[in-house]
Amino acid sequence: MARAFVTGITGQDGSYLAEALLDRGWEVHGLATSPPASGASTTPAGMPSASPASASPASGVTIHVGDLTDAPFLASVLDEVRPDLVVNLAGISSVAASWADPVRCAEVTGLAAVTLLELAWRLQERHGIPVRWLQASSAEIFGQPKLAAGEAISERTPIAPVSPYGAAKAFAHVTTGVYRTRGMHASTVILFNHESPRRPHAFVTRKITSTVAAIVQGRADKLVLGNQDARRDWGWAPDYVEAMVRAAEHDRADDFVVATGVAHSVGDFVAAAFAGAGIRDWASLVETDPALVRPTDPAVLVGDASKARAELGWTPTVGFEELVARMVAHDLGHSTDSAD
Ligand code: GDP
Repeated sequence: MARAFVTGITGQDGSYLAEALLDRGWEVHGLATSPPASGASTTPAGMPSASPASASPASGVTIHVGDLTDAPFLASVLDEVRPDLVVNLAGISSVAASWADPVRCAEVTGLAAVTLLELAWRLQERHGIPVRWLQASSAEIFGQPKLAAGEAISERTPIAPVSPYGAAKAFAHVTTGVYRTRGMHASTVILFNHESPRRPHAFVTRKITSTVAAIVQGRADKLVLGNQDARRDWGWAPDYVEAMVRAAEHDRADDFVVATGVAHSVGDFVAAAFAGAGIRDWASLVETDPALVRPTDPAVLVGDASKARAELGWTPTVGFEELVARMVAHDLGHSTDSAD
């Protein structure tokens, strides 16, 4: 395999994935909705690329600028790039945003994924060269599963989303299975929450670490949150990207849960972040705003990654405390992670 085409290349996962693929010798092309920061070469819709991009999201990536919902544009880019692997990371990136615009979420996260999958399939059929597909699926496709005590979500858990985001992701997930049955090497990685200093501020982890840093530095006086009892299985994003690469390169296409298997509450994250910043008496600094509580919100999402461990040899390398410490250190200006 040689050439990868990655949607959502400018996001947290896209930037780490581009770096991981380049390290392994892949040629990397990415789709972005707007031109990346200064220095990068880009190819407008349908135009041949002038030269490889030389700046963010990762040096050596060729960026194609266009809209994921523009099917003719996607078709022309795929024809031009002729990838061996298509990784679909793009979409409305958060559950919170999907509640604000469910229709746009369905178009971008659901329908566009299937459009791209069909285009990848046609490319394979036309040229007789295998095109692999990897869909970034999500724990949100399972909604609020009924599990036995201590049981974690696995690939066998029934799909029953409870948010517009989960529903759109579920559509892309099951359609990936349809194309696998059709004979394509089409896999999903079912990603549980995965965080890093590159996480956008719309996610609770980054909101917490950036606000705690702002409080320490006198730029904010309160941390205002929604549901602090929600429990999530938070892992380190570069670990999850490693699972993506392994799934894409694996002999057999399949669905793989990618998770740490350990859940913590939002409140636990808050406590760890203040501890990491050296603040002891923080209770009065945190408030709840009912407007931030979601219409439906899974109480616990924890994943069982046994299959990824057994078949892909994958294992998470960064635990909860270390993850929080790294994000707080970054937001305090103490770390060297470049992207933000
Ligand atoms: P998600 O699990 O993909 O939706 O990731 P988020 O980081 O957006 O949310 C994780 C959990 O934090 C959910 O249960 C949210 O309801 C909860 N949460 C509590 N307060 C907030 C907040 O202020 N912002 C966000 N984004 N989530 C919050």
